[in-house]
Amino acid sequence: MTNVVATNQTILVVGGGISGMTAALEAAECGKDVILIEKNPSLGGRVAQLYKYFPKMCFPTCGMEINLRRIKSNRRLRILTLTEVTSVTGDTGNYSVTLKLSPRYVNENCTACGACANAVTAEFDNEYNYGLNKRKSAYLPFAMAYPQRYVIDSRIIGTEEASKAKAACPVNAIDLDMQVQELKITVGAIIWATGWKPYDANKIQPYGYDRIPNVITSVEFERMADPLGPTGGKLLRPSDQKEAKNIAFIQCAGSRDRNYLKHCSRMCCTATLKQTTYIREKYGDEGKANIYYIDIRAIDRFEDLYQKVKQDPTVTFIKSKVASITQDKSTGNPILNGVNTEGYQRYSTPYDLVVLAVGMEPSVDFTQLPINITLNESGFIEFDPKNGGQFAAGCASDALDVNRAVQHATASSLRAIQVINKVAGAEA
Ligand SMILES: Cc1cc2nc3c(=O)[nH]c(=O)nc-3n(C[C@H](O)[C@H](O)[C@H](O)COP(=O)(O)OP(=O)(O)OC[C@H]3O[C@@H](n4cnc5c(N)ncnc54)[C@H](O)[C@@H]3O)c2cc1C
Repeated sequence: MTNVVATNQTILVVGGGISGMTAALEAAECGKDVILIEKNPSLGGRVAQLYKYFPKMCFPTCGMEINLRRIKSNRRLRILTLTEVTSVTGDTGNYSVTLKLSPRYVNENCTACGACANAVTAEFDNEYNYGLNKRKSAYLPFAMAYPQRYVIDSRIIGTEEASKAKAACPVNAIDLDMQVQELKITVGAIIWATGWKPYDANKIQPYGYDRIPNVITSVEFERMADPLGPTGGKLLRPSDQKEAKNIAFIQCAGSRDRNYLKHCSRMCCTATLKQTTYIREKYGDEGKANIYYIDIRAIDRFEDLYQKVKQDPTVTFIKSKVASITQDKSTGNPILNGVNTEGYQRYSTPYDLVVLAVGMEPSVDFTQLPINITLNESGFIEFDPKNGGQFAAGCASDALDVNRAVQHATASSLRAIQVINKVAGAEA
């Protein structure tokens, strides 16, 4: 049974992405007791699924490593993975929270040797790679996963596969009797760092994501470009595994549109500019990136990246909202149809691959959770004094880049610390 000590001087952080890790670490390093919960088996959130990140084009592993070092050296921070909040009652300085802990079926003995994965054959869609490939039913979510501990997929529990995994483990780390647990804790403040999810491209019917294999999303493209990803870093077309060299990007795919997402996620333009550099990195002058856009929104210092990409002769900008995507059945090429709004010419242009720059929406539908918190029109958490001791951090509050998400998380941590200081002052 998991043992957790928490009081009204404890801060609960929900979500272990870059924002949640930041908020939790800032508070713990100020001497506060913090519980950080993450619904997935490991920390890192969506940043861990990027190949590189702008503006410096470094690998996410680098920032992750720094945070992990801070986490490992802090005794005030308790991390619970595979954990979600099911209810919150109470008020500022005194919240009662119910947590649901799902079983990993692997205990602390695990050395991440991989013997369990070698022993099993059943495979499921790999969530880390947005389902672009399969993973084993005993698995490490990704190379740098923290904790470095395997997971047994609950879908094989009770089957011969699970027994094979258990028998293969040399350190007795697999416990198939683990059960779902419910924990009730008291905390003084709550930071919601539950982040974002990509808008569901299946809903954008004219773009054919659900029926044209060579139409993918920007988050899938990140995984494809990563040498540790499903294609070993090659830009391969899903239909025939041929290399895609002439690639179109559609900006505002399902964004700034009253039929889909009304808001602008602000990040998608810069993400596409970054992704054109992946094409150059792979093919040099032989690759072609074609960006269909309404207007490019590269804010602040991201403008430098925009200016740099504009100088690249392999990148073409076409001012147009693409009307539809059809498919050339003989080649598998997606064909973009629309009107170029600069010259008002109609086009029907085939490409090897199309990447939809989908928007970012809140990962949690807070209207479905039994908590009282103010949301904006897009479902992100608003800053509101009525929220009491509950604060949003990072993309739970808006679509933000990593830099802004981290700054926002630090500010939220400070607000939560102020709540705890008041509680401590009142009790002294
Ligand atoms: C295509 C694309 C490329 C991008 N590239 C860049 C880039 O190069 N540079 C850059 O600065 N930004 C980039 N971004 C933006 C970047 O991804 C975000 O800034 C970053 O992910 C924000 O981190 P976060 O922790 O707020 O949210 P997330 O990364 O979404 O983390 C949230 C965490 O909370 C967990 N969680 C969710 N719900 C619950 C729950 N109910 N209970 C417990 N845990 C929960 C999730 O599992 C996750 O681990 C890109 C965005 C897109 C769309």
